[in-house]
Amino acid sequence: MSAAGAEYRLDGIYKQRQDGFYMQRVKLAAGVISSSQARTVAAVSTRFGQGTIHLTTRGSIEIHWLKEDDLPLVKRELAMTGLTSRGACGGAVRGITCGSQGAQGFPLLETLARRLHRHFTGNPRFERLPKKFKIGVEADAKGGRHLIQDVGLVLAGYEDERAFFDIWIAGGLGKEPRAGFLLSEKVAEERIIPIIEAIIRVYTDHAPPPKRLKFLAKEFGEEKLRRLIQEETAYREDIPAASGLPEHLVPASHELERLELPVFGGKLTAEQLSAIADAADRLATGVLMVTADQDIALLLSPGIESADELNKLRQSTGMAFVKSVATFRICPGSHECQMGLAATRDVTGRLMAHISETGKKLSWALSGCGNSCSQPQLADVGIVASRLTADADGQKTPRFDLYRRQNSGLGLKTQEGLTTEELIETLRYIE
Ligand code: SF4
Repeated sequence: MSAAGAEYRLDGIYKQRQDGFYMQRVKLAAGVISSSQARTVAAVSTRFGQGTIHLTTRGSIEIHWLKEDDLPLVKRELAMTGLTSRGACGGAVRGITCGSQGAQGFPLLETLARRLHRHFTGNPRFERLPKKFKIGVEADAKGGRHLIQDVGLVLAGYEDERAFFDIWIAGGLGKEPRAGFLLSEKVAEERIIPIIEAIIRVYTDHAPPPKRLKFLAKEFGEEKLRRLIQEETAYREDIPAASGLPEHLVPASHELERLELPVFGGKLTAEQLSAIADAADRLATGVLMVTADQDIALLLSPGIESADELNKLRQSTGMAFVKSVATFRICPGSHECQMGLAATRDVTGRLMAHISETGKKLSWALSGCGNSCSQPQLADVGIVASRLTADADGQKTPRFDLYRRQNSGLGLKTQEGLTTEELIETLRYIE
């Protein structure tokens, strides 16, 4: 990778597979974005891109089809509303994700995500890492999302109004998926930043690029990695507990109804995002949430009728907002991504036409290459385009590996090398 390419990545920019076009990823702490910020993203996409937006499984937003000359202006426009892309790609602390937006304690998680985002974003101490470094904050361990992070924080309870978290480390997907392990239990919130600093120090001192932290867990074993982290000065550092006025944008009330707006493959137009942002102003205190399943959620203010509002939103956006399966996470694949081996949205469309009634009750995820951006090992049915093969007339077509998740760990590979037709036939009768 060229030096310019590495710098672009730190600014959250990847080249698209289409020559001359770029993707800008925008980091959102815990997937939360204000309506004015969402309108800015939509306006940037309309003015500089082609008006298309992609929602990621980590609660970030991607703007595609940007030209190189416009990238400084894009950065400026986003910064005007407080949005940043710094560290959204490349060897940096990525966007702080949260798959527990529906949980009662979400405002506390959002607050922690904002603090971590602020501390680790744009800080040169935490950039130019061997590879990406992912942090997730969760209300519980149910979904298994803490297992796929470099640092997964799981709320463990409260004592004297202080929150405590279990810290899981060294998980990750990609070509060698590995579940994280428990580093420390019931850690007070104010200890989390120093501990993550210690983890990053060990990571940068010992992991060769482009290895993730999970490489050290494999090389050293869990005990040695734990010991190295605990020996770091930062690990023992005490910092003052955070204080001040609330930082979360999502209202703290437990009673508010959540309106989920399913977005197929996380893909929507700038006009649709703008219309949803306008609705968030009217209905949901001006706050939107990008969910871990690539949808948008609004927390409705008291007295709002969700069925009525959903119908109005259908009319204003032209979107169906219907989930035809439990969830179906999809990365951009070869539609836009340089690494993509398969046209993920097209393959998903074909699959969905054949999924049985039983299959519709399962969660699904399809990734366009082994990087596993749609988190296939966390779905009931995970599909990964793993390679290209030449058919009889020399045409290159993708082959798919199939993963099934049967317990609280990561899904395991059950079949490999399937053609698209074989994949459809296999999944038609899935239970
Ligand atoms: S999984 Fe592969 S193809 Fe899909 S977005 Fe990630 S890198 Fe691109």
